[in-house]
Amino acid sequence: MSFVEYKDIIQNGDTAIVFLGHDSMFAIKVQQGGATQTKYGAIKHSTDLIGKRYGSRITCSKGGWVYILHPTPELWTVTLPHRTQILYSTDISMIIMMLELKPGSIVCESGTGSGSLSHAIIRTIAPTGQLYTVEFHKQRADKAKEEFHEHKVDHLVTVKTQDVCKEGFGVTNIADAVFLDIPSPWEAVKYAKSALKIEGGRICSFSPCIEQVQRTCLAMTEQGFNDISTFEILLRVHDVRTVSLQLPDFGTGDKNSLDKPADTVSQSKGKCCTDSQQGTIQFKSGAPVKEMAGHTGYLTFATKYLS
Ligand code: SAH
Repeated sequence: MSFVEYKDIIQNGDTAIVFLGHDSMFAIKVQQGGATQTKYGAIKHSTDLIGKRYGSRITCSKGGWVYILHPTPELWTVTLPHRTQILYSTDISMIIMMLELKPGSIVCESGTGSGSLSHAIIRTIAPTGQLYTVEFHKQRADKAKEEFHEHKVDHLVTVKTQDVCKEGFGVTNIADAVFLDIPSPWEAVKYAKSALKIEGGRICSFSPCIEQVQRTCLAMTEQGFNDISTFEILLRVHDVRTVSLQLPDFGTGDKNSLDKPADTVSQSKGKCCTDSQQGTIQFKSGAPVKEMAGHTGYLTFATKYLS
């Protein structure tokens, strides 16, 4: 099992995702002789998992079932053990696209945190790229290294335990892109500039507060970055449901009876149907959900050109 290649069969030592539903999944390490408890009962790794195909439906000891999925960066983001605040797939997708990452890209990142973004970057830049990730908190850096090794992506990433605001990324003029998710990114902008290739590259900084964004934009301007722009990405979820409404009674024999227009809608769109016997009309309605995941942070992007 590797986060950058798909394989069919579950093996001892794999990280696998136990999927109970879209709101309920967790990661496990498959171990000969091991067992995992779920609300549907136990899963025995040796007999229920090892040798089975990823994507299989596994019946647990109490008769309920779960799916066992091959890990991906997206599934890891929702199941990883949190050591820090993490980035989620909505922001991550924008970061990967706006930094123009692709197979072979060289990327610098700080901090590593829980490695949520790192896994997505690594999958994108494989098989020939390299991620240099800097984390000054030793336990977090060590844990990230351990996970990269378990996920068989350690050849694509170099973890450095140092303060990016004092020592930079430890590389010069090799990066295509730099990403910052630290409390004072403005202090690291000059190191980002020197890490980027002579011919230029892209930078992105993630900050929850607008005051951090202001200081970072100033630092980017001072360092000669161009095209500075800040985005906030909000995911607006719509709740789609079938609505049933009572048809108003306009009396019989009325030429404007509702039967006619309602049938017309039904034929033209195929989304609405009437049940004149029951006197109801049914249609699909979609409206934004009342509560949604709100602000996570601002993403500030900029370009270094050949100077
Ligand atoms: N983007 C990460 C989360 C980063 S949390 C993810 O998706 O998982 C921010 C991390 O930056 C923390 O782990 C913190 O220890 C680290 N950090 C903060 N300031 C730093 C600095 N000056 N140098 C290196 N790491 C730093």
